[in-house]
Amino acid sequence: MPETTPLPADPPGPIAIPASLSHLPVVAGLIVPWITLQTPDGRPLFGSIDAGRREWCLWQSRCQICAAALEHPTVLFAREQDLLRRRTAEPGLHPWCAHYCARACPMLAGRQRHYRRTDPDLPALLGLPQEAIRREDPAHTAARQAASAQTWFTVWVRGYRPVWDHATDALAASFADRPPLRVRRLTPLT
Ligand SMILES: [Zn+2]
Repeated sequence: MPETTPLPADPPGPIAIPASLSHLPVVAGLIVPWITLQTPDGRPLFGSIDAGRREWCLWQSRCQICAAALEHPTVLFAREQDLLRRRTAEPGLHPWCAHYCARACPMLAGRQRHYRRTDPDLPALLGLPQEAIRREDPAHTAARQAASAQTWFTVWVRGYRPVWDHATDALAASFADRPPLRVRRLTPLT
């Protein structure tokens, strides 16, 4: 069985952006992940995913944060049920990108007990037409918008296999044919 080691608590204060990621766009002190959905005028919708970019990352083995080619090992974010099914809808990450994301993302860091639900009036609030959010992946959004935040893990793997997940009707990263190098609990126990 892989180890499950809780990560130490985050220090207080803003999340430092490592020098290796300093070339990435930053909004409100946070790196904008490459797969984050953006408005037509380039504003990121944190927590919403661009379906096309997510699938491109999965097919091309690119990092969901920086879009660069993944190396070995690769880190996958997974919930408990994803571990059981040995697949996740989350594209892989470089270890250093995963380290930043685990501290910066409220959902993964366990600082937010509930997902932010997409406001049905979001386009109106942003002054955008309704089709502005149409590229969002419904299956992936549904997974992220579960009623309660769940425990997340990092799964370290030597690559993954892109597969079609019939349960979510969306592309996923499968590690069914390769045992994880290690598994770590991300969300602090409460
Ligand atoms: Zn990366």
